[in-house]
Amino acid sequence: MTQREEALRGNITEAMKVVAKAENLSPEGIRLGLAKGTISIPCNPLHKNLNPVGFGQGLKVKVNANIGTSADFPDVAEELKKLDAALEAKTDALMDLSTGGNISAIRKSILMKCTVPLGTVPIYQAVVEKRMTVEGMFEVVEEQAQDGVDFMTIHCGVNFETIGRLKKQPRLMDVVSRGGALMMQWIMKNKEENPFFQYYDRLLEIARKYDITMSLGDGMRPGSIVDAGDQAQIQELMVLGDLTKRAWEAGVQVIIEGPGHVPYDQIVEQIKLQKKVCQNAPFYVLGPLPTDVAPGYDHITAAIGGTLAATAGADFLCYVTPTEHLGLPTPEDVKEGVIASRIAAHCADIAKGIPGAKDWDIAMSKARKELNWGKQIELAIDPVKAKKIHDKRHSDSSDACSMCGEFCAYKVSKNALG
Ligand code: SF4
Repeated sequence: MTQREEALRGNITEAMKVVAKAENLSPEGIRLGLAKGTISIPCNPLHKNLNPVGFGQGLKVKVNANIGTSADFPDVAEELKKLDAALEAKTDALMDLSTGGNISAIRKSILMKCTVPLGTVPIYQAVVEKRMTVEGMFEVVEEQAQDGVDFMTIHCGVNFETIGRLKKQPRLMDVVSRGGALMMQWIMKNKEENPFFQYYDRLLEIARKYDITMSLGDGMRPGSIVDAGDQAQIQELMVLGDLTKRAWEAGVQVIIEGPGHVPYDQIVEQIKLQKKVCQNAPFYVLGPLPTDVAPGYDHITAAIGGTLAATAGADFLCYVTPTEHLGLPTPEDVKEGVIASRIAAHCADIAKGIPGAKDWDIAMSKARKELNWGKQIELAIDPVKAKKIHDKRHSDSSDACSMCGEFCAYKVSKNALG
């Protein structure tokens, strides 16, 4: 039985208890969210070393890190280093997007070390292994489910109708989702409907069997700020709204994926629209990036967009690394990306009044006022970087830092106020 089916029957599972404890909420509250569909706990029972994590309304905003090989860099050892970097930086979820080397073996190696929910995009493996028949695609989904994958991005909403909208209202950047573009290519070449849309019930059967959370992909997400909110994007969203309902009716958990490149002034309205159309299913945003001009700094761009999106209701932020739009990330880039997204998620938690979110900040402020450097470093979101910077220019002659020395505002204030 899936977590959703258990919740609908009034049962509180071990996974619900774990999530409730991590969120400082009652297990009954988590159960209710699962039953309503506003919370998902991607939790394939075959993922043995998983520590379940909850995503959705009323919970802390979560962060995902993408790792995975490419044809140019198929080395699994490097991906396992990225996995370690992501877990050390406290990512809440991982996606294996491998497209190089032995994809099944790489996924199994990642799953063995992965203690957070693991997601995949099955169409990548189907394309690389030339298994792009209807049977081939479904086989890949089932194989990945049998390995223990917890959530899968499936671009069910890329169909004839959505592609028709794309043609009616052409874009600057066409389709920038890799899975979305591959699906569109298959549909146009074969002149057949998207199998994951046409045989959606078959997909749901597999998802239900292994409790795979459907992460309904946004194949038509905008790849330029000027493409945001166009007909193709909205058409796909309408399809995803319908598919969400059908998944819930089949007992399957859902997450909805969203944009993409969106101007800052449109982010709130986009989140509210997506939440409404998809009946408040957990919402997973890729960025969003409010400008297109910052390659090398897109982790910062995504954190700016992600903070606003999460404050407006997005539940799950897919990280962006400094190498976005430029190349495959290194383990250090993975760490930077996770930290940047965690900052965005935490800022949104504070803004949304998530219980306990501010306590971390209050503790840091107290440590700052006391010039307690050990405590400040311990509380820092990246203690290693904070210590490195502090120690680099520290003078033993003062308990203040080297910025103001004897004119330290905390010291001056303390002397003035007594
Ligand atoms: S010296 Fe200046 S920068 Fe450093 S802790 Fe004091 S007020 Fe802050």
